[in-house]
Amino acid sequence: MTQPTIPLVDLSSQQEQINNLIREGFNRVIAESSFIMGPQVEEFEEAWAAYCGVPFSMGLGNGTDAIEIALRAAGVGRGHEVIIPANTFVATAGAVKRSGAVPVLADCNENFLLDPAEVALKVTKRTKAVIGVHLYGQAAPMEAIRNAVPHSVTIVEDMAQAQGARRHGVRAGALGDVAATSFYPGKNLGAYGDAGAVMSASKPIASRVRKLRNHGGNARYEHLEVGFNSRLDTLQAVVLNAKLNFLDEWNGQRVRAAERYDQLLADLQMVKLPRVAADNEHVFHLYVVRVPDRDRVVRELNAVGIGAGIHYPRPIHLLPAYSHLGHRRGDFPTAERHAAEIMSLPLYPGITAQQQEQVASALGKVLGR
Ligand SMILES: *Cc1c(COP(=O)(O)O)cnc(C)c1O
Repeated sequence: MTQPTIPLVDLSSQQEQINNLIREGFNRVIAESSFIMGPQVEEFEEAWAAYCGVPFSMGLGNGTDAIEIALRAAGVGRGHEVIIPANTFVATAGAVKRSGAVPVLADCNENFLLDPAEVALKVTKRTKAVIGVHLYGQAAPMEAIRNAVPHSVTIVEDMAQAQGARRHGVRAGALGDVAATSFYPGKNLGAYGDAGAVMSASKPIASRVRKLRNHGGNARYEHLEVGFNSRLDTLQAVVLNAKLNFLDEWNGQRVRAAERYDQLLADLQMVKLPRVAADNEHVFHLYVVRVPDRDRVVRELNAVGIGAGIHYPRPIHLLPAYSHLGHRRGDFPTAERHAAEIMSLPLYPGITAQQQEQVASALGKVLGR
């Protein structure tokens, strides 16, 4: 496919704002050869923890490792079950599986978020953790999820898509016992490659994460447990330090763009607009609508240069890698219905009103009006 005229994501406006800062920062890291665990890593960890409103943040190699390391640091492993939404990016399920635990799927609600009532039905003696995924940029109902499980269950946030989002005024990252995030380039706070972090208020969890990311030990050649090599690169920390200063401004642009779509699409009766739960401040990582005959709509939008996408076309239980969980079509009706209808429209800081009008008018035409 040729480059769409209006891509799903365009990072160029962000990059222009921080270009000089990044170049200076990169030069310093190169001059000092401080590529691994340079001082910029800790600088970012402190700034990011303060932003989220948690005492500890540990920079990691990517968001998938962050979920697995968060689980392991909380004591999750073989013989345990971890409840996750059926509608999430595959990494949530993969991280649970690799920790040694069994992913137990639960259906979502009309806001695309893990449904606490469905969680309650999935609890067993083996349930060790539950992961609320803040899908598309708004927080899952974490307090209701907590109330749906026994006290001993660890409450985990996958906030890869919700950097800066709030629920009841509390930032994502501070809504559970431990949180994992990704700084993949396209996320609201994105690096220039793979990066991630774990956040927590628990000192024991924080210190275990620091060990796990560094071959299972704090000091060189002192390996206390089997670990990972999954540290945040100093170069990525330079990018994240620069971008963190702009996150609120860029999230504000996303929210205003979402409001503009709400207005532009209000007359298209066939389009179901995204809903924001009353207690949430959404940061619109993605603007996801639901439409009939979705595959045709996406195809025809792509054909006229509109980079509409699908996040995600198949729920976890219908992916070949997770067929061993033994589910069938029909087991998670809301997730399945959404998977057939959802479509993400182009949205990023710097998208113009004119571009959004073009998207809306193209969608109107494709839907036959
Ligand atoms: C991006 C993402 C991840 C994985 O992050 P990576 O850094 O790509 O490993 C996990 N969960 C969700 C919901 C995501 O969007």
